[in-house]
Amino acid sequence: MRLLRELRLRGRREIQEIRPNCYVHRIETNANGRVIGTAYFDEKRVAHLQKAKAVVVCANGAETPRLLLLSANKQFPNGLANSSGLVGKYLMLNSGPSAMAVFEHPLNDYKGVAVSRVLHDFYELDPQKVGFYGGGGLDARFDLTPINFALNGYDMGGLPPGTPRWGKEFKAALAHNYTRTLEIVSHGTSLPVESNSFSLDPDLQDAWGLPALRMTYKDHPDDLKLGAFLRDRIMELLDVANAVQKWASPVEEQTFAYHLLGTCRMGNDPKSSIINADHRAHDVKNLFLCDGSSLVTSGRGQPTETISALAYRAADRITALAGRGDI
Ligand SMILES: Cc1cc2nc3c(=O)[nH]c(=O)nc-3n(C[C@H](O)[C@H](O)[C@H](O)COP(=O)(O)OP(=O)(O)OC[C@H]3O[C@@H](n4cnc5c(N)ncnc54)[C@H](O)[C@@H]3O)c2cc1C
Repeated sequence: MRLLRELRLRGRREIQEIRPNCYVHRIETNANGRVIGTAYFDEKRVAHLQKAKAVVVCANGAETPRLLLLSANKQFPNGLANSSGLVGKYLMLNSGPSAMAVFEHPLNDYKGVAVSRVLHDFYELDPQKVGFYGGGGLDARFDLTPINFALNGYDMGGLPPGTPRWGKEFKAALAHNYTRTLEIVSHGTSLPVESNSFSLDPDLQDAWGLPALRMTYKDHPDDLKLGAFLRDRIMELLDVANAVQKWASPVEEQTFAYHLLGTCRMGNDPKSSIINADHRAHDVKNLFLCDGSSLVTSGRGQPTETISALAYRAADRITALAGRGDI
């Protein structure tokens, strides 16, 4: 224990520098298949190589697999840590249809910070009863700023369908509805499907001339059934709460997302996963991945506390491995 504490303290002392606005575009390896450092562009686009005894990638579920794929070389022709061919695959986004309602009296939901009050009655659904696998939470969280509310907020816009979008009536609707509107969003399962993935786009390039990220995604049919189920429960809640008017987002295939999970899976078998329980890449001893990419299921929404908990655990484990000279 004393040794671990000492290593942690030493580790803290050795964190010396954050280099903002840098873009790591490649992880370099030597002939022994060990990582030797990362190649990056600084904010002036000057290229550098940062040597390292070990590299921990925490770029999340899109950019972590992209970086591994960009790091392909003769020894790792399919990308770094990708002997399984699964880097970038099993992408999960979490489903999330929502509905909104206007009430007779002001709710003033805009006041204070947006906090989640998640109802978990539908977290454990019985597949035999509902006819699909999955579950999730319902989250009443009106977090639209006035400008978002007026201009088609990030989800579905704040005003009921059919409200005029200009002139006197528009202004009156904004003034009346902003304080009286409630939104309930759902946070649901996305099932892991191998063909859902991030990969390198063969045609498109980013501003540095490197292959851009390509997302391929089709919701599992059960995810869409779950979305419709949760949306219907939201509408029932709004009914019994006596909403004056309510409307729901359509349950449709997802084309973008906030949660980026599962693209470098954790597991014991190098044939079906990228990293082990210590977050160490099966194929590259001194390479570690630590972010949403390691998740093997999407959970039922809101992944960040799990990602944070795993980061603490990874720090302990990597410190312990380093202490044993096992990196
Ligand atoms: C709009 C929105 C709402 C969300 N709401 C919730 C919520 O309510 N609850 C919840 O649990 N989660 C939520 N999330 C998800 C949450 O933000 C992520 O799960 C979390 O940020 C993941 O943390 P991370 O540190 O692994 O990755 P990130 O926070 O994405 O950090 C990765 C970092 O790596 C950097 N990076 C990437 N590539 C490179 C590169 N090549 N070189 C250098 N740096 C690089 C990025 O700039 C970034 O700073 C939301 C996400 C969005 C977008």
